[in-house]
Amino acid sequence: MKKIIVTILIIISLDCIAQSQVIENFHLTVSPIIDQKNPVTIKIISALSSFLESKNKSIIENDYWLQSDFQKYTYPYLDLYNIEQSKFGKDFFKPTLMEVLSTENENQKVLKIAYLGHNPQTDENFIKLIYNIIANVKREEIKFSSYLDFATRNWKREKKESINHIISPIKNINHKEIKAQNKSIKKLCDFFNTKPISITYYSCVNPKELFEIKGFDYNPMMYIDDSGGLADYGNIIFSGNSSEIYTHEIVHIYTNKLYPKIDKFLDEGIATYLAGSGKYDYEWHRKKFKKFIIENPKHDFKNHFNPYERLYYEKETSVPYMTSALICERTLRMYGKERLLHMLQSQDQLWNVLNNVGLTMENLNDELIKEISLPITAVLY
Ligand SMILES: [Zn+2]
Repeated sequence: MKKIIVTILIIISLDCIAQSQVIENFHLTVSPIIDQKNPVTIKIISALSSFLESKNKSIIENDYWLQSDFQKYTYPYLDLYNIEQSKFGKDFFKPTLMEVLSTENENQKVLKIAYLGHNPQTDENFIKLIYNIIANVKREEIKFSSYLDFATRNWKREKKESINHIISPIKNINHKEIKAQNKSIKKLCDFFNTKPISITYYSCVNPKELFEIKGFDYNPMMYIDDSGGLADYGNIIFSGNSSEIYTHEIVHIYTNKLYPKIDKFLDEGIATYLAGSGKYDYEWHRKKFKKFIIENPKHDFKNHFNPYERLYYEKETSVPYMTSALICERTLRMYGKERLLHMLQSQDQLWNVLNNVGLTMENLNDELIKEISLPITAVLY
């Protein structure tokens, strides 16, 4: 997997959560193909306009959004949060309601919303996204909800132990992988000294399908990678790998529950150490990383702690992920598991945490080169 662009988007969006803002000069364009004389449609347009105008004030509540979605997804309209922003200004992208589509349920309509921007200096137009949400019509009230349940209403479902698998109809359920996934979850629980967490696992054939069930008809990222996925809020795994096994992302669900303040660099390290990354396990990446270090003798590990830096060796091995994974391996080998778990739990500054396991800015390169020259330390995995 070339790493999860979707996750990066979520993290960037969440960085802005504290800065609630009012949208200036808000206007919702309504496509002329929509029948604006229909009384239900009139209500939907009015509610949509109020929702879109107010959505950036809070990511955790909105009068126009279905309450149960917040329990289920935590941030159900995260994909639309601050979507107006661009380098051309904070209110650059403007909404257009493109379609109000009927469904088999007469109380549910699919709304297609586009966000477009126009740069008057260059006379260029940009599409930010085309996105679907559901309008639930109940008596006089309109409440919006996520497209996900609707998009996957006919998907195959299989509950096995702690995982609810929801599987694309264009792929076969891989029972062997489901079994292997449950086995690895048992080991994970042993490692973290915890009970299984109930997880909903959407198995898509590729990232394009993953974006589609989340509501996107278009997002500039949806065609970039041919594999990938993410762990989302609400203990949800989205896999775009056509596979029922995705332990790396499941590790993130456990670490985020057990250590909600975990440093993102260490979080990627422990996930990679325990479960590899993309198609390959840790041992495979470790061999590649060793080659990378030999080929780049001047490489300075401390300059690549940003887990979202897309710095890869031979396209598959993330340099920041592997730096952090090696730190985890070294901690386990030298100090034992409890100390490693303590490191993940710490809310101290990263360098203070590293100092506690004998790593400094001065010795980091030598220590990690030493570590990778040793035989791999068996992970409890
Ligand atoms: Zn990860």
